[in-house]
Amino acid sequence: MIEIKDLTKQYGKLTAVDNLTLSIPAGEIFGFIGPNGAGKTTTISMIAGLLAPTSGSVEICGIDMLKEPKQAKQNIGYIPDRPYIYEKLTAIEFLQFTADLFSMTNSMTKEEFRQRAESQLKIFSLLDWADALIESFSHGMKQRLIMAAALIHEPKVLVVDEPMVGLDPSAIKMVKQMLIELADSGTTIFMSTHTLKIAEDVCDRIGVIHKGRLIAKGSVKELKQQAVLKRQAKNQQHENGDNVDLEQLFMMLTESEQI
Ligand code: ATP
Repeated sequence: MIEIKDLTKQYGKLTAVDNLTLSIPAGEIFGFIGPNGAGKTTTISMIAGLLAPTSGSVEICGIDMLKEPKQAKQNIGYIPDRPYIYEKLTAIEFLQFTADLFSMTNSMTKEEFRQRAESQLKIFSLLDWADALIESFSHGMKQRLIMAAALIHEPKVLVVDEPMVGLDPSAIKMVKQMLIELADSGTTIFMSTHTLKIAEDVCDRIGVIHKGRLIAKGSVKELKQQAVLKRQAKNQQHENGDNVDLEQLFMMLTESEQI
């Protein structure tokens, strides 16, 4: 569902993303983790079609993002790390605005759209605020509205940059559950996160990016084995991967790369 081939982005002399190749099948939640400045947002912006790569390609549901951007983007829901939102609109008006961007409302009556929008707001516990101005919303409510808007056209692929920033524990639980349910129904999810516990809880596979390069990928269990092998090769020590949590694993993988 997401095919990334030899994807590279250079900013002058800096290679922010270096020859990234990844294949993410339908229904998988793929977590992208890495230190600050590793290249996560740059990668996500290229997958979402917001940033042109220097070289390489991205295919969404078999559609090439560079060659057919409009068709490819119809299949994507994108949740940015720093969302822009029109505060003078109500929640329903914002969903209507987003749906119009995807030409959804051409094929729906006003009543059908209202029903779709309300069911989306209900999922994100915002139904009671459907007709309230967004400027009266808390940060967490705005985040949840952005998520509702990203899913209004029922995309096959969801691309999320730092999904849980600013959410309280109950909202985090709700979003985790929502991501798992979406994946169970076949949606492919690519998400970057700094919160390793969230990656561990929801992701089927994780990719670790460091200085623009993918240095490891696999299930949490596979990554733990890789990290222990790397450390053993370096220190000649014998460790058991079962005792390593994702934070230690992340440090092991990125530390050994720095040497
Ligand atoms: P963080 O976790 O801090 O959000 P990140 O992994 O998302 O980091 P990116 O934002 O993709 O990292 O940045 C990767 C590298 O590219 C960094 O060195 C950053 O300074 C650089 N970079 C990002 N955007 C630009 C730009 N528009 N012009 C020049 N350099 C950029």
